[in-house]
Amino acid sequence: MPVNAPFVETERDEDEKSIEQKKLKGTKMNGMVLDDSRVIYMMDNSGSGMFVPASIKKDGTNGGTLISIKQMELLMKQCEKILEKMAVDLHNGVIHVMPAHAVNSQSPYNDVCKYCDYKDVCHVDENTPTREIASPNHFESLQKLGGDEDA
Ligand code: SF4
Repeated sequence: MPVNAPFVETERDEDEKSIEQKKLKGTKMNGMVLDDSRVIYMMDNSGSGMFVPASIKKDGTNGGTLISIKQMELLMKQCEKILEKMAVDLHNGVIHVMPAHAVNSQSPYNDVCKYCDYKDVCHVDENTPTREIASPNHFESLQKLGGDEDA
């Protein structure tokens, strides 16, 4: 079990095996994995998808939230564009107070200001506009990205 093993909720008298399974599930990463079996095996040498969101299926094909190399390049370009815009905006002094907000009321995004050390500086209050965090699924994310559709 890794050092950063997650805390899990258990039933009273739950058996150790079941608790161990819950802990293992809690260590699984989110995100996208390059659609390449070599990469999947390097991230999880069992190929089972226990720790990464990708696996090698029984028929030898890759499964999970996969992304092609072309889509990965598009994603990196998109990230660079966003970072460039942020840098230009910062340089020009464009720094709006616009905290993140998620539609899901349980989301931790909705508490970012509550624990922020800068709230007295930015004067955020209930009338401050918020920026909604989109939560597209994997397919929607790839569609938005463009590029090939076969990942
Ligand atoms: S309180 Fe913190 S997180 Fe919230 S808008 Fe201000 S600086 Fe951003």
